[in-house]
Amino acid sequence: MANSAKPRRRNSTSEVVPWIPVARTGLFPSQGHDGPRPQLSFVLKVLAGDDCGVTQMHLGFRPVWRVQEQAGDARALFAVSQCEVLVRNSMIAMMRRLADLWIDSGKSGPNRECDNPSDRNTLYSPPESAAVDIDRWFTAEARIADIFYRLLGNEAQWPRIHLDGTQSLKEPMVGFTIDSSPIFDPSGEWERFGAKIAMYWFARLLDSPYSRHLARCEFCREYFAYDRAPRTKRKNPVYCPRCKGRAAVGRVQDSRRKESEAHLDAAAAVWGKWKYSRAYPNERAWIAQQVNTVCGTDFKQNWVSKKKVIEIQQRAEALRNAKS
Ligand SMILES: [Zn+2]
Repeated sequence: MANSAKPRRRNSTSEVVPWIPVARTGLFPSQGHDGPRPQLSFVLKVLAGDDCGVTQMHLGFRPVWRVQEQAGDARALFAVSQCEVLVRNSMIAMMRRLADLWIDSGKSGPNRECDNPSDRNTLYSPPESAAVDIDRWFTAEARIADIFYRLLGNEAQWPRIHLDGTQSLKEPMVGFTIDSSPIFDPSGEWERFGAKIAMYWFARLLDSPYSRHLARCEFCREYFAYDRAPRTKRKNPVYCPRCKGRAAVGRVQDSRRKESEAHLDAAAAVWGKWKYSRAYPNERAWIAQQVNTVCGTDFKQNWVSKKKVIEIQQRAEALRNAKS
């Protein structure tokens, strides 16, 4: 698309068109920022795939066609709806990447599934083995700090002086780069713009008191929020409220299976060793008694069912093979 364009009159230049100064308090509505933890509730919605109209807001304050005029030729012409889709998808993808980096920076344990939010940091770099979707600007090892400075570090900020003489920095203007060189590809710039929007809003969560409340379920991989950010080291994987029950059922089934295997092993260990006695005229009763002694159970002879006998025999056989 880019190559079919007419050559530019000007030499190649690149300018950053300031887009909108986002969310200056009271001036712009902050869509999706609800409840007592507004930054967190917004980020969670984006992570679930709903941008709450924020990308449209970023685009809407400076109509797309005006930029197309400024860019001055057909190369920059891009259907508005197409821009919106590109910006929104890129925004959501970058938000997920940032959230994963942030959450993973506090993970520990052999499978890195134990969550320690107090360890989270912006200098965490994913291990090489981690499969990260690499976009065209950042390598798989990029850290939150790298992404922040590459996307927002050069955005315009002005010092402001207030009535009482105190000063502060005005919100950064999230800019959109227009390059007049013939190879300029506006679709890539739209995606970069979406990534900037994500970084801008995620940085606001990081700068809020709720950055360590963000969590990701190890079972279904969905994002959710802790009521309270855990301060002590966790030893178990984190599950979202919906999966907590399922995970608990899984653990119970697991421990039951282990127990019943221990019973069968105990039976296999004494298999074939029964000798007739007055106390135990019956082999099955004797085996049940041996298992009870080892495992603290209370089985009667009917525990040694026909089905169990087959399993016990198999285990006894395996035991003999292992010994010889
Ligand atoms: Zn879950």
